Amino acid sequence: MSRSVLVTGGNRGIGLAIARAFADAGDKVAVTYRSGEPPEGFCAVKCDITDPEQVEQAYKEVEERQGPVQVLVANAGVTRDQLLLRMSEEDFGSVLETNLTGTFRVVKRAARGMLRARTGRIVLISSVVGLLGSAGQANYAASKAGLVGFARSLARELGSRNITCNVVAPGFVDTDMTRALGDEQREKIVGQVPLGRYARPEEVASSVRFLASEEAAYITGAVIPVDGGLGMGH
Ligand code: NDP
Repeated sequence: MSRSVLVTGGNRGIGLAIARAFADAGDKVAVTYRSGEPPEGFCAVKCDITDPEQVEQAYKEVEERQGPVQVLVANAGVTRDQLLLRMSEEDFGSVLETNLTGTFRVVKRAARGMLRARTGRIVLISSVVGLLGSAGQANYAASKAGLVGFARSLARELGSRNITCNVVAPGFVDTDMTRALGDEQREKIVGQVPLGRYARPEEVASSVRFLASEEAAYITGAVIPVDGGLGMGH
C-alpha cells in the first residue's frame, strides 16, 4: 500500500537518500527544502523548520497533494561546531532550535493526523555523538541526545494509538556535513570506526525504511545505531 511520507531536509544528503528509498518502494514522498532547488521527482515544499508558520503551511500543502502524513522522518539538522569557551549563546541556541525544537514542531504537527488515523510511524535522525559525546560539538550532541528522550516519551504517549516513534543514530556518513571536515580529521575518524569507513547515505535510509515498515510494527522507543560500530555499548 502506498503511504504518504514526509522527509524534512529531503533535498540532499541523508534526507534525499531516505526520500528515494521510500519512493523506490512505491510510497508517495514529500520532501522539505529550505534553500536551493528542490529535488526532482518528489512533492517538494519549501520550509524552514525554525519557523512555525512555514511548518504549518508545508503540512497543508503536503496534505492537499498526497493526504495526511502517515510516515514522518525528521531528518533536518545543522552543526555549528565550537569549543565550549568559544561557543556563543547563538551557536548553542540555533543548533537546539533547529535540531530539537524544529523536530518537536514537525512531529507535533504530524501526530495530529496520526492520532486521528490511529496509526503512524515517526523516525528521528539523531547521531552517534548524542550518546558518545564529541569535543567541539556540545550544542549538537545535546540536541541529538535530546531527541532520544523526546522519542522515548512519545513512544510511551502515542503507543496505545499504534504510533511508533524510533531514533536512527548514524555514525559518520559521507555528505556535505562531513565533507566540511578536513582530510586529517576524516582520517582520524575512520581510524576509530570498526568497519573502517564512512557510511553511504543509502545505508542509513534502509534502516529508516525498515522502522517505518510493517515488519517493525512492534519496535518503538528504540535507538538504532548505523555507525559502523563506532558507538558500541552506548
Ligand atoms: P546535510 O548538511 O547534507 O543536510 C542537512 C539537511 O537539513 C538539508 O536538507 C538542509 O536544508 C536541512 N536543514 C537544515 N536546517 C534546516 C532548517 N532550519 N529547516 C529546514 N531544513 C533544514 O546533512 P546530512 O544529510 O549529513 O544530515 C542529515 C541529518 O543526519 C542531520 O540531522 C544530521 O545531524 C544527521 N547526521 C548526519 C551525520 C553525517 O555524518 N553526515 C551523522 C549523524 C547524523 P538546506 O539544503 O536548505 O540547507
